Amino acid sequence: MCRRTRWLRRLQPRSNVADLAPYAVGPHNTRGRRRREAPPVGRSEFQRDRDRIIHSTAFRRLEYKTQVFVNHEGDLFRTRLTHSLEVAQIARSAARTLQLNEDLVEAISLAHDLGHTPFGHAGQDALHHCMKPHGGFEHNLQSLRVVDLLEQRYAAFDGLNLCFETREGILKHCALKNARLLGDVGERFVRRRRPSLEAQLANLADEIAYNNHDVDDGLRSGLMAIEQLAQVGIFARHMKRVLREYPKIDPRRLVHETVRRMISTLVVDLTRQTAKNIKTHAPRSIDDVRAAPPLITFSAAIQHQQQELKQFLRLNLYQHHQVARMTNKARRIVSDLFHAFVTESRLLPPQYHEQAMADPARTVADYIAGMTDRYAMREHRRLFAVDEI
Ligand code: MG
Repeated sequence: MCRRTRWLRRLQPRSNVADLAPYAVGPHNTRGRRRREAPPVGRSEFQRDRDRIIHSTAFRRLEYKTQVFVNHEGDLFRTRLTHSLEVAQIARSAARTLQLNEDLVEAISLAHDLGHTPFGHAGQDALHHCMKPHGGFEHNLQSLRVVDLLEQRYAAFDGLNLCFETREGILKHCALKNARLLGDVGERFVRRRRPSLEAQLANLADEIAYNNHDVDDGLRSGLMAIEQLAQVGIFARHMKRVLREYPKIDPRRLVHETVRRMISTLVVDLTRQTAKNIKTHAPRSIDDVRAAPPLITFSAAIQHQQQELKQFLRLNLYQHHQVARMTNKARRIVSDLFHAFVTESRLLPPQYHEQAMADPARTVADYIAGMTDRYAMREHRRLFAVDEI
């Protein structure tokens, strides 16, 4: 063995590949990249995907994009960036227990929100409304568009040239008419098949993360009171236990300790129920996983409690009148920007002019979707305030 080969051997990727279950995604069954590349040195293919995502421009922008609260409303609220990190942490813990590919769940989790517009769901709804005559706007599809096309950092290709399984995980949902246009990665929607277990896990880790951090942020903002949350089963149960153990605990710590225990309950329940599902359906390969019903699930009891919490957050936080006032403003900003740019594409930055000649509406949607909250507000002022330049 020559010196270079010995040296490369020592640099073999150290991940949990040796411990993977046969139905996990690994080097043996990946469908690879759209454009062939030399194998990575010192890291796995999915570690390389994760690294490319972290180095992307879209990833850095997540820091200034709304989760629920607009960026300038407070320094301590979750942003899309901290949300994505929390999703990755939850997904990795469960992946290790379930012998799934940690590197892949991490890559999917970090990339899952890359296509989100500024101002959260209000921004997405407004952009979708504007784009209806032009094929609509879906944030999952936009996340895929970012990693497949819009990131421009590599000499040899557009996008990040990620592995099939990472791209498949990013595309959580997709309208059938769009799925038909996507080739391999849209196929599962057409054939009604499931994605990898890693993709299923990242999806539920997303749910665990936002339900719990929205409780925390909602209470911190003062828009919800702890007495209201005490009406919600899962929160009440854990809060009572904490108070029994620590009767003099201060209110902020009470919230943190309760939320911490809720997350733990959900992750433990998910891993237990999933292990049961795997035992029942006995998948032996990734193909078996794709043909089976969803295998990463909560138990029926916990699923019910999650739904109750979601419903509570919808009524008391997402539809709170103070949140509604901000989302209404956000909708206006996105809609004003869209119509101004589509009507007069010369208002766009020069690098968009050529693309705008071919497809003005989609170009404007890409530009707006890439904006951070504060960039969108600044751009709105520049276009509409007569005393701004
Ligand atoms: Mg998310």
